[in-house]
Amino acid sequence: MTLATTATRRCRDDLAALARQAGRDLEGASAAEIVRWAADTFGDRFAVTSSMQDTALAHLVSQQVPGVDVVFLDTGYHFPETLGTADAASVTIPINLVTVRPRQTVAEQDATLGPDLYRRNPELCCQLRKVAPLERALTNYDAWATGIRRDESPTRANTPVVSWDDRRGKVKIAPLADWTQEDVDRYVADNGVLTNPLLDDGYPSVGCWPCTRQVAEGEDARAGRWAGRAKTECGIHK
Ligand code: SF4
Repeated sequence: MTLATTATRRCRDDLAALARQAGRDLEGASAAEIVRWAADTFGDRFAVTSSMQDTALAHLVSQQVPGVDVVFLDTGYHFPETLGTADAASVTIPINLVTVRPRQTVAEQDATLGPDLYRRNPELCCQLRKVAPLERALTNYDAWATGIRRDESPTRANTPVVSWDDRRGKVKIAPLADWTQEDVDRYVADNGVLTNPLLDDGYPSVGCWPCTRQVAEGEDARAGRWAGRAKTECGIHK
């Protein structure tokens, strides 16, 4: 992080109160206004997360906060296109890419828990390879921004723009919460924003390769995630 400012360290109760107030005050604000508030409020205690499906949020934040930390969870199961998007983002957008990995490689996990845990117990696999690494990474921050949107799925329909992430003790910010896919597409086109090539190959939602398939015309955008399994979210946004 190369920000000039260092935000005052706040206690958990102060952060929780701040999040709840901001969630009310910033509902209806533009994404740029929400990012400005986050940057002014948290300084270098603020990070963005990105799945590298597209880099719209990372780009948007970097325009106001050059050098912002962008946390990318490298699960060990990403498509090469996703890893390529992360590499390209790190050299074409003014961000500090923070690549976070699970404690075990895929080979080590296979050796200790058996092969293909994603088939037998995807909840545990996501916990070990996504949820826990993110929690470790976020210990360095008071607030984190995510690109989730209300229009992505019914489970995300009530996403607040700012909320209290009680499990992690962080302020959670969703600047794009009220954007539609069309808003994202427009931002990408207007700003020449980098996107994952898989988006143009039938993958409107990109995750780990064992748990992501192409979707057919008319299917829900997230229908290709954990298809055929009783799972729709990795657990990060529960
Ligand atoms: Fe494992 Fe699939 Fe979750 Fe990736 S999405 S961490 S492969 S269960």
